[in-house]
Amino acid sequence: MKSKSIKELLSTDFNLQEVTVNGWVKTFRSNRFIALNDGSTLNNIQCVVDFENFDEALLRKVSTGAAIKIKGTLVESQGRGQTVEIQVSELEVLGTSDPDTYPIQPKKHSLEFLREKAHLRVRTNTFAAVMRVRSALSFAIHNYFQKNGFYNVHTPIITGSDAEGAGEMFRVSTLDQKKPPLNEDGSINFKEDFFGKETNLTVSGQLEAETYAMALGKVYTFGPTFRAENSNTSRHLAEFWMIEPEVAFNDLDANMDLAEDFIKEVITYVLENCQEDLQFLEQRLLDEEKTKPQAERSAMALIEKLKFVADNNFKRVSYTEAIDILKNSTPNKKKKFQYPIEEWGTDLQSEHERYLVEKHFNCPVILFDYPAKIKAFYMRLNEDGKTVRAMDILFPGIGEIVGGSQREERLEVLQEKMKALGIDEKELWWYLDLRKFGSAVHSGFGLGFERLVLFTTGMGNIRDVIPFPRTPQNAEF
Ligand code: ATP
Ligand code: MN
Repeated sequence: MKSKSIKELLSTDFNLQEVTVNGWVKTFRSNRFIALNDGSTLNNIQCVVDFENFDEALLRKVSTGAAIKIKGTLVESQGRGQTVEIQVSELEVLGTSDPDTYPIQPKKHSLEFLREKAHLRVRTNTFAAVMRVRSALSFAIHNYFQKNGFYNVHTPIITGSDAEGAGEMFRVSTLDQKKPPLNEDGSINFKEDFFGKETNLTVSGQLEAETYAMALGKVYTFGPTFRAENSNTSRHLAEFWMIEPEVAFNDLDANMDLAEDFIKEVITYVLENCQEDLQFLEQRLLDEEKTKPQAERSAMALIEKLKFVADNNFKRVSYTEAIDILKNSTPNKKKKFQYPIEEWGTDLQSEHERYLVEKHFNCPVILFDYPAKIKAFYMRLNEDGKTVRAMDILFPGIGEIVGGSQREERLEVLQEKMKALGIDEKELWWYLDLRKFGSAVHSGFGLGFERLVLFTTGMGNIRDVIPFPRTPQNAEF
């Protein structure tokens, strides 16, 4: 008999059918009720054992965490909380779990404790729910782009261009670290390295995605990116996944429309397809917030917040307007910002972004037309000569979730910009070629996948929404 998932079983009517099911024991109460879970759903199926029919030694092995196989009859449940249960006729213990040393006890564990047990933490309801939502989001993202005529491009993980400028990079090298070959001036001779040049792990697939957009029209990447930034925050990972659409002939307005529509649709997908997990995560958050002072609690519960984002327009505000708002804001006047806003041109810190989103506008905000000086070289210069067609999307509780721009498509302007910043044209000759052969307006953005998962699940730390987080001083597992 083919075994069925617990998700399937719980959605069938009881009809006295014989079923086989595999899973891990959550709890075994009164030598009679096994709560069994197989990961297919948040919910456990109750398996009722008539202990007189089973060997005592066998039942002793049915402890929390053990893997078991059950055959039995699906019947209408006598107990509350479930419609069906299994009347067990055969029970096999596939893998025992020592109750004295199994770290995941049927009680509440702190997220910090579970981070140390990242190989087992997905057996908790919280992490299983988060990872199922993560998977659903990933599917929704591919689905959105495929449905809308985008092609998925796999941009390289190892990159030879060091001009991407989005952060510190991890070097990729096969040179003998203890005795690397040296040039006459004492520097490392990368000509002898694997690729004959210095290479790193990519910080973004954008530049390569641009080349594909200029042929396939609408493309997107969805892959791992790496940043060796030593920022130990709850929003930064050293290895994270990024979604980067790039679209030929789109200007910044079209880029903003795309980003907004895209985010709303993937959130809607999760609202429709992950109801149980979201309800569980919402309750988890409510319980957690009970321990906090009133002022720190969020105004909306998780599902309400997701619906709000999916149903309302994002507020679009220029950097210049935002600076005015911030300059005149109460925290700025009362010197409550760690970085006071004094003049136009300063980069916004997350305290400013969060003020705009959480206090002033109370909704997601798209900031656009940033000062050229604080943004990357490839962003299109505006007619004013001092701002660029950049846009960041800011989310409540998260801060920046998307960074994007219309790209500079004019060869001379781009060359000038690179010269001013000391970026060698030889490093990016192929990128400049795009501006020589059939150049056109084009735009794109990068969305940090884990920040989206963070928002959607209501979790507070980015380390808890990726299976095995990579952060400074941490690469166990
Ligand atoms: P931040 O200012 O938050 O460090 P950034 O300006 O460095 O972000 P971009 O280079 O624009 O970010 O990258 C695009 C998106 O990738 C960001 O909007 C964010 O969602 C995500 N992101 C950037 N750095 C990280 C990181 N270290 N860990 C996880 N996500 C990240
Ligand atoms: Mn950064």
